[in-house]
Amino acid sequence: MLVWRLIRSVPGWLFPLAAGLLVLLLPEFGLGFALSRQVQLACILALVVSGLNLSLGYAGELALGQAAMYAAGAYTAGLMSIAGYTDIVLQLIASGLVALAVGIVTGIPGLRLGSWSLAMTSFFLVLLVPDIIAVFGDATGGRNGLSGIEPATLFGEVIDADRFYVVVVLVAILWFAVMRNLVVSRHGIAFRTLKQSPVLASSVGISVFRMKLLGYAIGAFPAGLAGALFANIDMYVSPEAFGFTFATAVLAACILGGATSVYGAVIGAAIMQLGPNQSSEFQQYALVFYGGFLIVGGVLLSGGLAKVAKQVTARLDRKAGLTGRGAPVRGTDTARPATAPMSGQTLVVDGISKAFGGNQALDDTSLRAEPGSVTALIGPNGSGKTTMLNMICGFYRPDSGRILIGNKEVQGMAPEHVARVGVARTFQTPNIPDGVTVLEAVASGRYSTDRVSMLPTVLRLPRYRTVRARDLAEAERALETVGLAHLRDETATSLPLGMRRLLEVARSMVAEPRLLLLDEVASGLDEDEVERLADLIRRLGRAGCTIVLVEHNFRLVLALADTIVVLAQGRVIAAGLPSEIEHDPRVLSEYLGVVAEDTELAGEAT
Ligand code: ADP
Ligand code: MG
Repeated sequence: MLVWRLIRSVPGWLFPLAAGLLVLLLPEFGLGFALSRQVQLACILALVVSGLNLSLGYAGELALGQAAMYAAGAYTAGLMSIAGYTDIVLQLIASGLVALAVGIVTGIPGLRLGSWSLAMTSFFLVLLVPDIIAVFGDATGGRNGLSGIEPATLFGEVIDADRFYVVVVLVAILWFAVMRNLVVSRHGIAFRTLKQSPVLASSVGISVFRMKLLGYAIGAFPAGLAGALFANIDMYVSPEAFGFTFATAVLAACILGGATSVYGAVIGAAIMQLGPNQSSEFQQYALVFYGGFLIVGGVLLSGGLAKVAKQVTARLDRKAGLTGRGAPVRGTDTARPATAPMSGQTLVVDGISKAFGGNQALDDTSLRAEPGSVTALIGPNGSGKTTMLNMICGFYRPDSGRILIGNKEVQGMAPEHVARVGVARTFQTPNIPDGVTVLEAVASGRYSTDRVSMLPTVLRLPRYRTVRARDLAEAERALETVGLAHLRDETATSLPLGMRRLLEVARSMVAEPRLLLLDEVASGLDEDEVERLADLIRRLGRAGCTIVLVEHNFRLVLALADTIVVLAQGRVIAAGLPSEIEHDPRVLSEYLGVVAEDTELAGEAT
C-alpha cells in the first residue's frame, strides 16, 4: 500500500504523458515495420474515437458522423498533397478545420430537429460518404481511391517513415492533452451538465443548442487530424476506409474503452487495432467482432474499461486510506464564513396566466419580491408554485402577463438568458450531473459569470487560470457555508437527498444571483440541516439577495419569510406579513388543513 500511496502522490496527468512518451520512443527498442504501422493506426483510431467520446460520452449526443469527418480530413490532406501542399502542419490545420466545418454544417440541422435526428442525420452521412466521394470522382478518384499523394514534408524537408511515426504519436499526445484540459474545465463540466438535463444546463446559463453543437463539432476536429495522418501513411486514400464498418469500429472502441473518459479512447482503439484487426480472417467477420465488443463494453461493463480502471483506483485508494470523509462541520453561526454583500433585484410578476391544455395552472397571478427579503410562496400541491418558478426562469412562456427583474422584462426570454440576468434556482427534485465531484458540481453554477471561451480553456491561458481559480475558491466558500466542505471530493450524485439539496443551494449561491428561487429546499432535510438552511437563507436575504422560497414547512416559512404569498388553484388567495397570513380566515379555511398535514410531513422525503 505504501507503493500505491507513492504512486498517488504523483500528479495524475504524468502517467498518460509518460505512456505517450514511451510509445513515442518505441522505435528505439526496435519496433518492426508492421507493428509500427499498427501503432500509428491505433493512434489514428484513438483520435477519431476521442471525438466520439466528446459528443457521446460528455455532451450526451449519439452521433456517428466521425467516419465522415475522418474522410473529410483524409481527402483534404490528400488533395492538398496532390496540389503541391505537402507540409504536414498545414495539412493538419486544414483537415481539422474542414472536419470542424463538416461537423457544424451537419450538426445544425440534426440538432435543430431535436431528439434522435442528429443520430439519424449523422448515420446517413456515414452511409453516404462513399457515394459523395464517387460523385466528385474527377477530383477524388471515385471508387478507385485517391492516389498520387506525395510524401509529407515539414518546413520543406521530406518526413521519412520513421519520423512520420513520431509525427503521428505527437499529434495524438497533443490532442489528448487538449481533450483532458477541455474535460476538466468548466466547459467540460458544462457538457456533463447538459448530458444530465437540458433544463439544468439552461438554468445555469448554458445555451443548450450551442453547447450540443460545440460538442459535436469539436469532436470532428480530431477526426480531421486523424484523416490527414492516415492519408500520409499509405499515400493512398480509398473510400472503403470510411464506410459503415469503420463507423461501427469507432463506436465499439468508444463503448469498450468507456465513452465518458479521456483515455478510454486510447484503450479502446488499441484493443481494436492491435487485437482483431491483425488477423486476415478478421476482415470477413469484422462487424460480428465489433458487435461483440459493443456488447462486452456496453452491457457487461457499463462505463467501459476506463470505469473499471477508476473503480480499481478507488478501491486501492480506500485500502491505502487515501479517502475517507472528514468529520462533518456542525458548527454555529460564528464558525461559518460571512456572506458577502449581494445586489438583489426587485422581482415583479404582473398578471401571469398559464394553461397546460385545459388545466389553468396559473390564472392572472401577481407577486412582488424585494431585495434583501425572503418572499415565501405557499399553497397546496398543484397550486402552481413550481410553474411560477418555471415561468420566472423562462422554461415556460406565459400566455399573458409580464415578469420584470429590476427593470428588465424577461417573459419570453430563453432560460439561459434569464440565468445570465442573475436568476439562480434549485429544483424540487435535485438535479445534479453524473460523474462530477461535489466541488465541480457547485462550481458549475458559475458558468454564466466571468465568461471564458474554449480556446483559452484548452490552451490554459492566464485568463482561463484566473477564472478557474475564482470558480474553485467561490465553490469552496459556498460549500463551507452550507456545511459540505468535508465532502468536496465525493461524487456529487452519491450524496443523500438532504445534502444534494444543500449542494444545489451552494450551486445557486456561487452564480452571484440577483434573484434566488428555492423550490422546496427543506423537504428531505433532517432537523440539523433545516436549521442550517434556515440560517443560510436568512443570511442571504440580509446580504441583499432577493429570495423566493417555495416551501411546505409552515413553521419554517413563518420563521423566515418577510412576506407570504398564498396560491390556490393558480390564484393568489392571500398575501402579506407572516402575522397577517397566520390569522387570515381564507387561508385558515382553504389551506390550513393542508398546511397542518404538510407541516407534519415536512422532514420526510418528497
Ligand atoms: P406545485 O408546485 O404548486 O405543487 P405545479 O406548479 O407543479 O404545482 O403544478 C400546477 C399545475 O400545473 C398542476 O395541475 C400540474 O399538473 C400542472 N402542470 C405543471 N407543469 C406541467 C406541464 N409541464 N405540463 C402539464 N401540466 C403541468
Ligand atoms: Mg412544486
